[in-house]
Amino acid sequence: MKSIKNYDLEELKKQLLELNEKPYRAEQVFKWLYVDKVNSFDEMTNLSLDLRKKLKEHFEFTIHKIKTKQSSKDGTKKYLFELNDGNAIETVLMEYKYGKSLCVSSQVGCKMGCKFCASTGLPFIRSLTSAEIVEQILAVERDENIKISNVVFMGIGEPFDNYENVINAIRIINNQKGLSIGARHISISTSGLVPYIYKLADENIQCTLSISLHCTNNEKRSILMPINRKYNIEELMKACKYYIEKTNRRISFEYALIKGENDNIEDANGLIKLLKGMLCHVNLIPVNKIENEPFKKTNDKNIIKFRDYLNENGIVATVRRELGSDIDAACGQLRRKSVNDK
Ligand code: SAH
Repeated sequence: MKSIKNYDLEELKKQLLELNEKPYRAEQVFKWLYVDKVNSFDEMTNLSLDLRKKLKEHFEFTIHKIKTKQSSKDGTKKYLFELNDGNAIETVLMEYKYGKSLCVSSQVGCKMGCKFCASTGLPFIRSLTSAEIVEQILAVERDENIKISNVVFMGIGEPFDNYENVINAIRIINNQKGLSIGARHISISTSGLVPYIYKLADENIQCTLSISLHCTNNEKRSILMPINRKYNIEELMKACKYYIEKTNRRISFEYALIKGENDNIEDANGLIKLLKGMLCHVNLIPVNKIENEPFKKTNDKNIIKFRDYLNENGIVATVRRELGSDIDAACGQLRRKSVNDK
């Protein structure tokens, strides 16, 4: 049985039509789900008991159970959600001046194998459904009694390895009759699954694309990020240029600074050569500590030097604030868990 939260409004109308229900019923259900954020079909009190029964017979009602919730000293909160099948994923709530941003997971585990990232350490289990993606937002909004203003697909998983469900979730999240989070307030981050960069460029969605670049040299990048062996930097950049041309949207390149790996002047020059003249922005991330890995972060002074050097050479670069590292909620620190894990 599929979850009721898998459908954008138009699709929900079709689903209900098959059950001989009028389109306005779908509008009512959609409002209960995403405006009133109810916990069950029984709470949809303007629907007849018969219709509620019918809905229960045909659709699941996805609700994530909060297994744990941790708070960082900087205000960041990390949720461990239990899914219906006993798997568990992490979701992170961050406070910014401009609003509340939610970092959502797209898969239970990750196949990408990036050496510096904790999400990939355990075996991959499965992709999330659109409902399980959307429900991360609903669960946090209910729990904190807040409205999320930004969503970033930067939690566990590779969003482009679950492309259809992620795009469908974005359409649901974006719908003005529901959560109504503007596409420009939604970011997708990819380690570089090139065919989907082209695919996203051809969709009519104004979301932000982030590319986890981290290295400008193929040899090194292939070691740190195995996906580079399949799609190298040249192919990646070609796709990025197509994306910018097609959408006229700025791409954000993520670059985790790792001491001695990718943080010297040659690396900065590599970035300048690669990105000069492109409609883009570089997000420098001091690499976060993960278990059993030797990577150390570049010291603060060098990070500033690296940033300034890029800026002086025409590349817009900023340093991402480190949020939630004391509760392992920062970039690259999220992991899939089984419900028995601590
Ligand atoms: N799989 C997607 C989505 C994850 S986003 C992707 O790779 O883009 C998480 C971001 O944090 C990515 O840019 C990732 O490369 C980065 N990251 C991973 N491990 C990190 C670490 N230890 N420190 C800082 N950033 C890290």
